[in-house]
Amino acid sequence: MSEKNYKINTKCVQSGYRPGNGEPRQIPIIQSTTFKYDTSEAMGRLFDLEDAGYFYTRLQNPTNDYVAAKIADMEGGTAGMLTSSGQAANLFAIFNICEAGSHIVASSSIYGGTFNLISVTMAKMGIESTFVSPDASEEELMAAFRPNTRVMFGESIANPALTVLNIEKFAKVAHANGVPLIIDNTFPTPVNLRPIEWGADIVTHSTTKYMDGHGAAVGGAIVDSGNFDWMAHADKYPGLCTPDESYHGIVYAEKFGQGGAFITKCTSQLMRDLGCIQAPQNAFLLNMGLESLHVRMARHVENGQAIAEYLNGHEKVAHVSYPGLPGDPYYEISKKYMPKGGCGVVSFEVKGGRAGAEAFMKELKLAAIETHVADARTCCLNPATSTHRQMTDEQLAEAGIPAGLIRISCGLEDKEDLIADLEQALAAI
Ligand SMILES: *Cc1c(COP(=O)(O)O)cnc(C)c1O
Repeated sequence: MSEKNYKINTKCVQSGYRPGNGEPRQIPIIQSTTFKYDTSEAMGRLFDLEDAGYFYTRLQNPTNDYVAAKIADMEGGTAGMLTSSGQAANLFAIFNICEAGSHIVASSSIYGGTFNLISVTMAKMGIESTFVSPDASEEELMAAFRPNTRVMFGESIANPALTVLNIEKFAKVAHANGVPLIIDNTFPTPVNLRPIEWGADIVTHSTTKYMDGHGAAVGGAIVDSGNFDWMAHADKYPGLCTPDESYHGIVYAEKFGQGGAFITKCTSQLMRDLGCIQAPQNAFLLNMGLESLHVRMARHVENGQAIAEYLNGHEKVAHVSYPGLPGDPYYEISKKYMPKGGCGVVSFEVKGGRAGAEAFMKELKLAAIETHVADARTCCLNPATSTHRQMTDEQLAEAGIPAGLIRISCGLEDKEDLIADLEQALAAI
């Protein structure tokens, strides 16, 4: 049986590193910045991209490559790479095919850091953007495109809004405009959703979240599906389809084909020039997380579902958002894309606004107050008194973030203990 046919649970454990006879069972951490060669000619062939191999860890390191290969296999892609953070993954994935004068169409329901990256920092680089509602019709999405649009971007389950993207609709519109769709798949992970199966061309991750799963290492990943035909749109993607003068005139899409061009260019050009490599130590920790990801995701979903159901209809709770909850606007699409459930993040609004949220948070014993999500330990955040504390109650309401909103990331504890903790804290409101 070929590795490609293994089930996702087996891929989490086995894909990527396959040791030979007498080699270490666990992934070796290649803690070395450089690699030694016998002749300058041998090394020159690496620099010319004539041979595959390692010469400097800023570009590539074997430990990272084992883990990137595992994530690529889990997503059903042809090639993958690791980055130092999720932010770097989205920057690299977008900037690999955009330049000054390009335009991005992005879902408005995305992680705040990515929204800033696209709307502020990329604007300074001369890259324009238009944000669209994730629930927009095909016609509305079409209207956002311009002749200089080079990429469409969205999140499978958005952080923190928990909207579930209609990937098929976004992919259809992107492809009708001759551009690829990038999906940030951080929240469901490939255990619960594989965007490439629904039409996405490139998938990104903040591996800092469930993939690492222990709050131990910041990291990111990019996977290419190999499905987008760059050469058919060569006028739009000169970086992939015309000679790269910084690499002796290599044409990535010709030399590395549809399945290899995107990641090879991203590594040999952007990693070379911008850095942002993941430390091999962190890649090792990430792989430890991946080995149990399928087991952990099931428990995160079980706890998220139990807590969403407990909170829904509670007398101190005004509203609950969780795609696994019948009646949630994303319930149907969530069931279709994620039959095993999505993730363990639930958001809810306590009654009593800012004061209610403060009284509740103060009483929590198990759930810690953190600006993090998606690790083994349950944590909570009230945006009004933390990440969004400079905003007035009126501004918060306008942004769709009521003052009493709380985001809880359900960890791996026993759900009865978590519910008991919430129960005693809700009693304080
Ligand atoms: C956290 C997060 C990011 C940013 O990742 P970092 O690893 O913190 O840089 C990007 N996208 C999503 C959906 C996230 O949750």
